[in-house]
Parts: sequence; structure tokens; C-alpha cells
Amino acid sequence: MLFSSQNATGPAQDVLRSVFGYEQFRHQQQAIVDQVIGGGDALVLMPTGGGKSLCYQVPALVREGTAVVVSPLIALMRDQVQALQQNGVRAEYLNSSLDADEAFRVESLFRQGDLDLIYVAPERLVTPRMLGLMEQTPISLFAIDEAHCVSQWGHDFRPEYQQLCILHERFPAVPRIALTATADLPTRREIIERLNLHDAEVFNSGFDRPNIRYHISENQGNAREQLKRFILNNHEGEAGIVYCLSRKRVEETAEWLTRQGFTALPYHAGLSSDIRQDNQERFLRDDGVIIVATIAFGMGIDKPDVRFVAHLNLPKSIEAYYQETGRAGRDGLPSDAWMAYGLQDVITLRQMQEQSTAEEARKRVERHKLDAMLGLCETHACRRQVLLRYFDEELDEPCGNCDNCLTPPQTWDATVAAQKALSCVYRTGQRFGVNYVVDVLRGANSGQVFERIQSFGHDRLSTYGIGSELNQGEWRTLFRQLMAVGLLGVDYEGHGSVFLTDAARPVLRGEQTLTLRKMPKPEKQKTHKTSS
Ligand code: ADP
Ligand code: ZN
Repeated sequence: MLFSSQNATGPAQDVLRSVFGYEQFRHQQQAIVDQVIGGGDALVLMPTGGGKSLCYQVPALVREGTAVVVSPLIALMRDQVQALQQNGVRAEYLNSSLDADEAFRVESLFRQGDLDLIYVAPERLVTPRMLGLMEQTPISLFAIDEAHCVSQWGHDFRPEYQQLCILHERFPAVPRIALTATADLPTRREIIERLNLHDAEVFNSGFDRPNIRYHISENQGNAREQLKRFILNNHEGEAGIVYCLSRKRVEETAEWLTRQGFTALPYHAGLSSDIRQDNQERFLRDDGVIIVATIAFGMGIDKPDVRFVAHLNLPKSIEAYYQETGRAGRDGLPSDAWMAYGLQDVITLRQMQEQSTAEEARKRVERHKLDAMLGLCETHACRRQVLLRYFDEELDEPCGNCDNCLTPPQTWDATVAAQKALSCVYRTGQRFGVNYVVDVLRGANSGQVFERIQSFGHDRLSTYGIGSELNQGEWRTLFRQLMAVGLLGVDYEGHGSVFLTDAARPVLRGEQTLTLRKMPKPEKQKTHKTSS
């Protein structure tokens, strides 16, 4: 260690100025940098655009030795390394895009101690060859970028990440810093567990992106027209990303937007890498380009002035939604996250989940994540409050910068229905999932469902059969909304059982009423064309 943490401010500040040309650290950067320079571990939760890179790049230049940065994406590594080299930093990367000669050159530099930072793909890092190299070279720190990729339950699982605990076993004295822009509580716990970060200091900058305005509406059968109107009214001639679920839909939408006079380019994994590269570069370089993409596009794209991110389909989790919408407005200027979703999306996503070969436990988590996403769509409350609550953060006041705050939706008095739902959860012991509780509420009286209810004696509960006024879908909507407003919690790690939170008591006791968003009747949606 070159400097103790007491006087770490000096050299870190010098590096910040002389290498990166910035006057001051932002927010928690200073504390994080101090922690790592002092030799401690850190888990950094910081929204996109918050400035995560400097959190390890500055310590990399202050501490002795080479910093090893694990990153899942080749494009991201290349951009970061180029930017560092332009600032005169000795940085290189090692991944499958290098030929043998180039890789050999980088390895030699590394072995001689001639690098400040080396970016390495996770699968390469844990090879015996790389581990051997690292044993011969002083390492200043390990940075694990996109750390949520380690989580099996996360939305972006990469199996190679799970082997990264080897870093701590082989190099216990080297500080580690793990960074992510998106991780709900279970994912956070899993990062700490899998990477053995129990002693790490957690730096949570909060997830709010106040400059992003959220807007979610139902697909009225003409989502593209809705999108067109949104762009013309708000972002004509500006850069944006439009996400679609399938490659086919990407191409159709890009063509359609082009016919409508926009500059719209497709991006998905089925296009040749030349076309993808070209389209990405035009998006980054030219003004006012709209990229229409599957979720294959975006991770590591650092374009500060993306003015809108639009979804023509429902993302499969709040994390995915947060991460994708987070690509808007990295420069801090007002930007929009706009979505039109339909019931058909829910059906498609559910089918994809059910048909996947994943274990039952994983499917269960995915179902809950999708439900939480729907809860966000269906809420009449402030979107930002619901979004942040999902990341375990409370926003005291409604934000005033989302569709629900700006144009309050129609609501209904759901107090009685909510009381029935909550007391049924309570009476069945807070040990069951939503579907079961709904069966009890609706008084299911035949088949296996009924046998199960009888076996628990729940057919004798006072709440058995008190909810026949709503159908199954309507009850499920209500439960999702109860979760979205924080009256019910879900035990993700258990079997998806729902439980009452403290906030549920006043409603249950009749001291507080509850209004919820009026949802369109499902019958109406059946006639939807899915062509948009
Ligand atoms: P993240 O990885 O968290 O999305 P980046 O590390 O790419 O964010 O940083 C986002 C932008 O903010 C970059 O353009 C970066 O140069 C800039 N930035 C980061 N820290 C500072 C700072 N202390 N002062 C000024 N600009 C900063
Ligand atoms: Zn709001």
C-alpha cells in the first residue's frame, strides 16, 4: 500500500485532476475511492451515469501494482481502454477479440508490471494461465463490473461470474470492488455471498434518476401510432432507443418508423456483426438516430444524450426495465422512459418462462419478477415511488415527474376488496402464494385445488369464498397492486409466499382506505391485434 487512508485524499485528488481532468469527486466517489485505496473491499450500488468507473480507476492509479478489471462485455472493455489510453493511462484488455500475438504482447506488458489497468473477460480470468500470471505480478485491486451478473436469480446471469470467488481465495490481501447499477435486495445478498464480500463496505447511492420521466400506458392496439405521437410531441429529431421483444418486431418497427420519416436503425443478435457495428456507430455519432433493438443492445453503450427510451413490450422484470430505461439521460438532462404494454406481452413472457428448461425455483423467481413489473404498470401511485421501493428505497413524496403524478389515472375504492385479500393472507398463515390465496377467496370447491384447501382446513376459514365478486385475473391484479403499494411483501427465497407488511395493518383495521387504479376489463383486451 502506498498511502494510508488518512491522507488518501491528496493523491486521489491529484489523480482525479491530472489524469481525468475533473475538479471534484461526485457524491460517494470520494468515500469509495478512500475505502479501496485503504485496502478494503467495497460493494458499490450506483445508478447508470453515476460515475462508477472512476471508483476503481483512481485507486488503480494510486495503489501500487496493476488493477485487474473484470467486465462481461468486449465492446465495453474496448471503449474504456481507449478512453484511458487517451488520458495517458497504461491500460489494455485481454479477451477473445485479440489474436494470439496481441494477447501475448498484453500478457508481457502485464508480467513486466508495465500496466496500470488490465481489463479481462471473466472466463479468461479464472484460467490457470491467467491465475499464474497474476501470481507473478503485483496486483493493486480487483474490480468486478456489472456484479449483478453473478446472481443466479438476477436478470443477467453469467455462470463464469460465479467462479470469481477464487480471486479472494488466491489473493486474500488484494482489495476488491464490485459494482452494479441494478440489484434488488436478494441479488445484493447473493453478490455478497457468492463473491465472499461479507466484510465489504456497501456504498448505496440510491437508484433514483430524477431527470427521467416515466410514462406507462396500455397498448390500445396501435402501439406504434402511440409511439409516433409520443416522439413527435416530445423528441422530434432527438436520439432514442426503442426496445421490442423479438427480432422480427425490431425489423418491422424500424422499417415502419423509417417510412414515417424517422431515422431508425435495427439492432439485434441476428444481424451480421458489420451491420450491428455500423448501426451502433451511427447511433453514437450522428444526431437524432433512433435505434430499434432487442435487449441485446445497450449494455455498455455510453451515449450521454439519449433523450428517450421506449418499450413496445413489457420487460420481464423491474430490474430490466430500470436498466434499459437508465440508458436515457446520462447527461442529467430531462429525458423520457415511455412504454406501451399489452396483456399479450404478459402471456408471451409467461409462456417463455414456463417453456424454459430452468429449474422450478428459478421459474418461480422469474414469475415474481414479472408480477412486480406488472404491478408497476398497474399502479395508480407515483411510478418512481413504486420503482424505488422495489430497490428498497423510500421516496417520501410523489415525484411530480411521472405520468401518474402529472395526470392522475381513474381509480376505484378498493378498501373492502383489499381487506378481504389481506385478511385471507393472514388467516391462511402468510405461508402461501397469490394463486392459492385467490383460490381460497373465491371459494374453489372442486378438483385438486379444493383437496389442497381442505387438507389445510382452509375451507372452514371465515375468508373462504368471500371474494366471488372479482374473477381470478382481477384478484391477481389487486394482489399485484397491493404489493406495488407495499401492503404485501413476497418471500422470494421461500416459496413465493406473500405476507403482510406493517403498512397493511391500518387498512385491515379499517383506519385507512385504499384507492387503486381502474384497470380495463380483460375482455376488452382479447380483441387486441398484436401487430404493434
Ligand atoms: P457509470 O459507469 O456509473 O454508468 P461512468 O463511470 O461511465 O458511469 O460515468 C458517467 C459519466 O460521468 C462519464 O462521462 C464520466 O466521465 C463522468 N464523471 C464521472 N465522475 C465524474 C466526476 N467526479 N466529475 C465529472 N464527471 C464525472
Ligand atoms: Zn411520480
